[in-house]
This record gives sequence, structure tokens and C-alpha cells, in this order.
Amino acid sequence: MSVISVLRYIPYVMRRHPSAETTAAARCLAPECGWSAEPTAQADVCSDMCIQHTGRTGHMTFVREFSEVAVVERVVTDYEHQEHAQPRGARLPLTFAHRDPQ
Ligand SMILES: [Zn+2]
Repeated sequence: MSVISVLRYIPYVMRRHPSAETTAAARCLAPECGWSAEPTAQADVCSDMCIQHTGRTGHMTFVREFSEVAVVERVVTDYEHQEHAQPRGARLPLTFAHRDPQ
């Protein structure tokens, strides 16, 4: 009798959620300023707000943050497509990791 171990892995990817949008925000780094740009979905608007702040105050350094809602999704591989297309009993293991000698 032989023992066969079959290892399978399930690939995942992380993507921006389809109903979400990227948000940009900024904060002035001048000591004791405390100014910040409201989060916006338009990065150019955030940049314009920083430029206007620089024009009014002379403060030139900002932290810009971009955020989004993301989702992790399982990737269906070509093998899985083929696996479902084959009749039951015709499946092949993905990887043979260990096989005891007979
Ligand atoms: Zn400032």
C-alpha cells in the first residue's frame, strides 16, 4: 500500500473594491499649523488645496494619504476551469509532494 500526499494551494488577490473609490487627504507638517485638507475622491483637488495653503502661509511640506476599500478575492485558475470541465473521476492532483516507496 502506498501513501500519496497531495498539496493544493488556493491563490488570492487583493483589489480595490468595485464600488469604492480612492480617497486623498493631506496634512500640513509646519510646526503648530494643524491645517489639513478634507478627504476627497479627486487627488487633484487635494493638491490644489495644499497649493492654496502654501500660497497663504508659505508652508511647503505636507503628508498626503491615499486610501481605498479593498477586497480579497479567490482566483479561479485555469486548472480549476479544466477540473470542472472533466467528468468526475478524471481529476488529477496538482502536486505530488510525497510518495512512499512501494
Ligand atoms: Zn500649514
